[in-house]
Amino acid sequence: MHVRITLWFDRHVFEYDIYSLLKAFWPGADITIRYTDETEKEEQQAEETVCELYYAPGEEPYTETVRFHLVPGSAEAAETLGLSGCGAITAAVETDTRSDKIILKNQVKELIYRTLSEQTHRQLPWGDLTGIRPVKLMSGLLQEGKTDEEALAFMQKTWFVSRKKAQLALQTAKREEALLKDIRTEDGYSLYIGIPFCPSICLYCSFGSHPLAVWKKKTDTYLDVLETELKSVYDLMEGRRPDTIYIGGGTPTSLTEAQLERLLTTVTDTFVSDALREFTVEAGRPDTITKEKLQVLRQFPVDRISVNPQTMNQETLDRIGRKHTVEEIRTAFAAARDAGFTNINMDLIVGLPGEGEKEVDRTLEEIRKLSPDSLTVHSLALKRATRLHLFRDAYEEESFVNSERIMDMTEACATDLGMTPYYLYRQKNIAGNFENVGYAREGKACLYNILIMEQRQTILGAGSGASTKLIHENGTRVDRVENVKDLQQYLTRIEEMTERKRKGIAAFLNG
Ligand code: SF4
Repeated sequence: MHVRITLWFDRHVFEYDIYSLLKAFWPGADITIRYTDETEKEEQQAEETVCELYYAPGEEPYTETVRFHLVPGSAEAAETLGLSGCGAITAAVETDTRSDKIILKNQVKELIYRTLSEQTHRQLPWGDLTGIRPVKLMSGLLQEGKTDEEALAFMQKTWFVSRKKAQLALQTAKREEALLKDIRTEDGYSLYIGIPFCPSICLYCSFGSHPLAVWKKKTDTYLDVLETELKSVYDLMEGRRPDTIYIGGGTPTSLTEAQLERLLTTVTDTFVSDALREFTVEAGRPDTITKEKLQVLRQFPVDRISVNPQTMNQETLDRIGRKHTVEEIRTAFAAARDAGFTNINMDLIVGLPGEGEKEVDRTLEEIRKLSPDSLTVHSLALKRATRLHLFRDAYEEESFVNSERIMDMTEACATDLGMTPYYLYRQKNIAGNFENVGYAREGKACLYNILIMEQRQTILGAGSGASTKLIHENGTRVDRVENVKDLQQYLTRIEEMTERKRKGIAAFLNG
């Protein structure tokens, strides 16, 4: 049963945080935010589960009460939500409204988390944290001077994070710190280049990629525009060169050998210098990888590539629209090793439709045999802009399973391969409310991945849909400049996008 939850507010406050917390408990539910002054509540459909949050002025001049009600509309809805009955659940917290808004927000989240946790008998691995960067919180605690044990205890007590996840955050924060120690956070930058084409569009894709067959005739034009943008970025940066370069997408190896050579020549001639610490090209889809393309990559200072299986189960690959075989993954990986690549990443997704422990185990066995240098484990996120979300009903019969046990299995595989975690982030609607973790062997971590998550260095983006993040004041302010996502628009609006970047970059350089 699909549950619809209507969240009623009596004012505009903390809606996003509360929405995210309810989503963390019930990722599959449709949650709508409404305001009591917007429309009459009687208009609600009778079967809707209703959640109300409102503030009542107290008798003391500065005290208010925040009340939280959850009212399952039917016994069936209560059962789906994991609640014992369909009576209203109510909780209230007295709060001092003079206090800092963040303190107030944390009180409200705590109230809701405690209530839902008691009612559903569930504890979430990351407690009431709804943000995507728990490692940043851990780094902040360490910077404040807390010892490891104090930082762990704080995370557990304040945000209800499990001991295991707090330890994961601590381990990751420490490795990140060591990896970023020599990065030029003030004057340096990283460069991201997007190639938005793929041989077919995966069911869960949220990257705005385009099918190559439809756009084949325009890929040269895309490269023309992209090169213009890259040259303007170089000029705007007054000749400064980046610490890391990341060509992603889409799948960059969807381009032909000649196109790849052309792009890499421009990038290398314009941006590569002694300051470069890492140069990644995603070769994600095995059905785009050929020996010849790998040879092209080897002619340039590309030192890290990604060959991404997501799963090693053919049935799942077919189901999620990957349109390639398990055998092609093995062949592409072997070809990359033969070509001399010594830093190959593999991406996996857990929680794919129809996959449980048995299927994940099979995938991990294959990964152990291939022995990549780093492994990025994603928990499937049901994003709105994906075909998977669109066809959610059709896949309702399939499970979207993720569990502590599955996360442990992936961690054990990474450990067996000599890897430790080096970056971590969370998403909305993530399967099992877990996290995405990057594991790597010593010397094989991807600096760019950490930089993009922890916002420690400016990232300049080029290509359709690429995001530029200008970091000011030691990461406390981030100015964003977004390129248009629509491919056709990207081809025609380059001057406007360059102009927007010009202003942002000038502020950054003069900052
Ligand atoms: S390979 Fe990646 S970018 Fe391409 S369609 Fe699949 S998920 Fe999207």
